[in-house]
Amino acid sequence: IPTWTRHDKSKGKEGKEEGEEPKAVPVLLSDKVSLYKGDITILEVDAIVNAANSTLLGGGGVDGCIHKAAGPCLYDECHTLNGCETGRAKITCGYDLPAKYVIHTVGPVARGHVGKAQKELLSQCYQNSLALVKEHGLRSVSEERIEDTAHASRWHSNGSRGRRKRATRTVPYTKAFPCISTGIYGFPNEPAAEIALETAKTWIKKNVNEVDRVVFCVFLDTDFKIYKEKMSRFFPQD
Ligand code: ADP
Repeated sequence: IPTWTRHDKSKGKEGKEEGEEPKAVPVLLSDKVSLYKGDITILEVDAIVNAANSTLLGGGGVDGCIHKAAGPCLYDECHTLNGCETGRAKITCGYDLPAKYVIHTVGPVARGHVGKAQKELLSQCYQNSLALVKEHGLRSVSEERIEDTAHASRWHSNGSRGRRKRATRTVPYTKAFPCISTGIYGFPNEPAAEIALETAKTWIKKNVNEVDRVVFCVFLDTDFKIYKEKMSRFFPQD
């Protein structure tokens, strides 16, 4: 067993104490993920992910729910983003949502056909959404970042936006994913869940200290059953 030495003035001339080296406590990947069934727009997390369309200007399904709950300023900000390609992700503020940010990603349309390309694009949605965690340093997001954003003034000048919480937490980041592409875009639920879990697992493994928690937010009973069964396989609790 390797030993370690720590300085302690109360312990003799040398001020040293022998002991066992503190072991790095391995982080269980299962501690980093949660399954939640319900409406993503009520989650008080750092960011929720939106299964958007390529215009980023709102639509049906979860996208419509998010825009409705966030209020018109989300549309205004999305309007400045010039759309988003399939598999990519863009970030905005959360406005009237309890979540601080919304990460908009565009899943592949898979109606009737799920090939290699669609699977890869769906995986990229999860990867690129997670990559924004690191890129924007959201785990220690501070007021500076907010002041830097062009739309910051709206938060202060408009009464309702003024209610928006300032993102000053320095704890690691928590984000929530809906089941991207499995609604209107028609990606079959089971392979979509496999891709979501596999991609998130690989990313969390590599970036274990960058993220506090990834929440898989399912809306339908079918998805809840699928994720419940698969999560214990992808993220065993041992
Ligand atoms: P896509 O166009 O990518 O298929 P949809 O919005 O049609 O996106 O569906 C994606 C997933 O979001 C589906 O599983 C759907 O059941 C789910 N969903 C719809 N509304 C909500 C909501 N308010 N919160 C969480 N998930 C939702």
